[in-house]
Amino acid sequence: SDIQTHLFVIFGASGDLARRKLLPALYRLMQSEEVARRCYVLGTARTDWTDEQFRENAREALRDKGYAEQEVSEWCTRNLYYQCLGEEGNDYEGLRRRIEQLERHRDLPGNRAFYLSLPPSIYRSAIEELGEVGLNASPGWTRLVVEKPFGYDLESARALNDHVHQYFSEDQVYRIDHYLGKETVQNLLAFRFGNAIFESIWSRNHIERVEITVSESLGVGGRGAYYDQSGQVRDMVQNHLTQLLTLTAMEPPTSMSATAIRQEKVKVLNAVQQPDPATDAVFGQYEAGTIDGESVPAYRDEPDIPDESITETFAALRLNVANWRWQGVPFYLRTGKRLSAKLTQIAVRFKGAPVSLFQESGQPCIPQNAGCEMRSNELLITLQPNEGFDLRFEVKAPGGSGKMELETQQLSFSYQDAFGPVPDAYETLLRDVILGDPTLFVRADEVEASWQLYAPLLEAESPVHAYEAGTWGPNEVERLLPQWTSTARTGPSAE
Ligand code: NAP
Repeated sequence: SDIQTHLFVIFGASGDLARRKLLPALYRLMQSEEVARRCYVLGTARTDWTDEQFRENAREALRDKGYAEQEVSEWCTRNLYYQCLGEEGNDYEGLRRRIEQLERHRDLPGNRAFYLSLPPSIYRSAIEELGEVGLNASPGWTRLVVEKPFGYDLESARALNDHVHQYFSEDQVYRIDHYLGKETVQNLLAFRFGNAIFESIWSRNHIERVEITVSESLGVGGRGAYYDQSGQVRDMVQNHLTQLLTLTAMEPPTSMSATAIRQEKVKVLNAVQQPDPATDAVFGQYEAGTIDGESVPAYRDEPDIPDESITETFAALRLNVANWRWQGVPFYLRTGKRLSAKLTQIAVRFKGAPVSLFQESGQPCIPQNAGCEMRSNELLITLQPNEGFDLRFEVKAPGGSGKMELETQQLSFSYQDAFGPVPDAYETLLRDVILGDPTLFVRADEVEASWQLYAPLLEAESPVHAYEAGTWGPNEVERLLPQWTSTARTGPSAE
């Protein structure tokens, strides 16, 4: 591959994301000899660690994941630490000197990735200080990786983009949405544009509606203070669900280049009409309930959540994509915490047959008639918990006393069964950062278009309905889509 020797700098190296995701992903990437000889990791944060203490922390993180002691130890000896951030002031000058010294000693060509795994409140100062000390340019390449959330609303996202662009050019910037690193999300592109049979029916002519579900059974956990300020629209809809929507709805790109793909994604976003908070959205907040036989507390009783909080932990939306392919096909989005199960799924519901020949009565009927029962085909694209596809169709149930009875069955494809364990999204994304491939990262105009789309929801003071933990959300969602609270489908091999 084209991996070049480089320095991978993690800001916030003592934090949760670094420990749970970044270090393990880098470690797995380094398992390939080629990468291993070409990458050095430099951690930084406020914590006063020596190189050795940082390595010990990395060793623990990797041991927790079950990796072999010997290999982990070897890898960790290459990692370095520099305490660049501090309560009394930061030392980016010192960081620059440390980096330059390192590059001299180890004969590195000056390729650098800066990963901001910091609290969003200090993205701005980190970017500015990197720029001010000249770390935005080097003899090699320089790339800046920014974690979510990118902004709080349209205005702040624009301001952050402007700020970033004062110091870094857009082609240096990698905005992370880790959903884009998931195999099934990328496979959506392969599925759609590598298979002519589906693409020819992928439109308003054959599709009745699309449902996108991202549900979690977990609550807010230890993130209460942060989460209560953002809520589900900012935390999940604006980024992850919107990515799933754009990849499902986009036109075929002219090539698989980053520019061509991101161009088509932005076009979709520009075609989506802003939802009306009164008619197109339902919000909820969880009450106490039971999940997997265990009692769980109400949102307001979670740590760091004010008693009177009206933050939404559930959001359901109906979106209309006003372009030639999709006009009139509703896209239903729902996401929430403390729902009945963990599920990330795109369900594409096709239009039914024009006439139903298989009625109890023996008489044909048309779907518009009362009592005319007909099921339509469905394609389920599941990302969690088991990545894969299911295509649902009707077959004749065996036997029967002269009557034809239909039963729904499915053709299933499971990623895990076909290919073994699926790599972690961060592994894919970090590889792309060091390869310099921005396809799976969010472009400046894309992030702004997405915030703009949801602006009416963020500005309105909409009612937040209570729902019991362990259900599929508040009953009010049935106003958007009847029976939505009882229609969660499982994915491949989860049945
Ligand atoms: P975290 O555990 O709180 O870590 C934050 C890191 O920043 C720590 O290493 C902290 O270390 C450092 N830091 C430097 N200056 C700081 C300051 N002024 N205040 C607080 N911390 C400071 O957070 P995280 O969960 O790793 O998240 C990091 C970023 O990734 C955030 O932007 C978050 O939104 C994003 N993210 C995280 C996850 C996840 O699963 N954790 C998932 C998606 C996105 P010192 O105290 O040593 O300085």
